[in-house]
Amino acid sequence: MLEIEELHAGYGGTPVLKGVSLRVGQGEFVAVVGPNGAGKTTLFKAISGTVATRSGRIRFQGTDLAAVPASRRAHLGIAHVPEGRQLFPSLTVMENLEMGASTEAGRRDWARNLDRVLAWFPILAERRSQLAGTLSGGQQQMVAVARGLASSPHLLMLDEPSMGLAPAVAEFIFERLAEIHREAGLTILLVEQRVAEALESADRGYVLEAGRIALEGTHAELRRDDRVRQAYLGM
Ligand code: ATP
Repeated sequence: MLEIEELHAGYGGTPVLKGVSLRVGQGEFVAVVGPNGAGKTTLFKAISGTVATRSGRIRFQGTDLAAVPASRRAHLGIAHVPEGRQLFPSLTVMENLEMGASTEAGRRDWARNLDRVLAWFPILAERRSQLAGTLSGGQQQMVAVARGLASSPHLLMLDEPSMGLAPAVAEFIFERLAEIHREAGLTILLVEQRVAEALESADRGYVLEAGRIALEGTHAELRRDDRVRQAYLGM
């Protein structure tokens, strides 16, 4: 579904991604883990088109994204749930979800998508008229995920959904993501600093260090890897 080859990208004169290659197959749940500043967010921004690619190629469902402006990529089926949620704080929960449904597929599938996200996150039904900025961090993250799902994506990209959340709340979010993947067969690409939880949820993973893929493997291979165990799992 997503094929990235030798991607170079950065800001101004500063290179961040230095030849990243990765693939996400249809229906897979893939995690990208790595230390602060490794370039994980930059990778997502390159996929959704808010950071320019210097060289290399990103193909999504066979389409070379170089020719697709950022504003069209959501319509192709790429949903980016950004780091820090980025909700509209003075809009209600329901209005935030409606903003997510602004793609053609999102408008077409609105009723079905709304039913599904409220089943996965029932608290959002109770809070539907509440301003998003007044919700707890965990509830805001649920709105951010639900807003991404409201666009009817083929690929859901989540940038550090557990950021700033208490462990039990983060665990709830990871469990829901696994359930969404299982029940909807949705392809998920997840960036996380909570490496143990990310590798537990995902089928496969990549370790991104200083703009390069240092390791890749199935979740079981990565969890067995000595380097991953020492550097990321504290073993
Ligand atoms: P984190 O988990 O801390 O967000 P990350 O792996 O997502 O880390 P990025 O946010 O992609 O890393 O940042 C990679 C590098 O690019 C860092 O050195 C960062 O300082 C730099 N960087 C990020 N955004 C910008 C920007 N808008 N302008 C210039 N440099 C940036």
